[in-house]
Amino acid sequence: MTKEECIFCKIAKKEVDATIIFENESIVAFKDINPIAKVHILIIPKIHITSMNEVQEIHGNIMKEMLLNVPIIAREISELNEGYRLIVNTGKRGGQEVMHVHLHLIGGQRSIFQS
Ligand code: AMP
Ligand code: ZN
Repeated sequence: MTKEECIFCKIAKKEVDATIIFENESIVAFKDINPIAKVHILIIPKIHITSMNEVQEIHGNIMKEMLLNVPIIAREISELNEGYRLIVNTGKRGGQEVMHVHLHLIGGQRSIFQS
């Protein structure tokens, strides 16, 4: 798969519809199309990075931007006030299906990830 075919790059470029809940010049956050909990948001960089395993020094600012915006996004969603899960599936054995690095921000009700 080339980055021209990447579904998350297309969402970032608004070529594919998504319910965007936060955006700035370097990242986009949108609702997961197949949520596993009441709140299930994906946070992606606008540039194509295949997975966590390809993150390098040059991606430092963008990774920082993704993480620093987690509490800013979470604060706006009442269901996340008491906490949430942040998950980064990585590679085939890590359950990654979309090969564009993303954070899953999950919460709001008990799910398979919660004990
Ligand atoms: P992962 O298994 O970590 O790669 O997660 C990929 C996630 O992307 C899954 O939870 C999918 O439901 C979600 N997903 C795939 N395509 C779309 C889309 N077009 N819009 C929103 N979420 C999507
Ligand atoms: Zn991409």
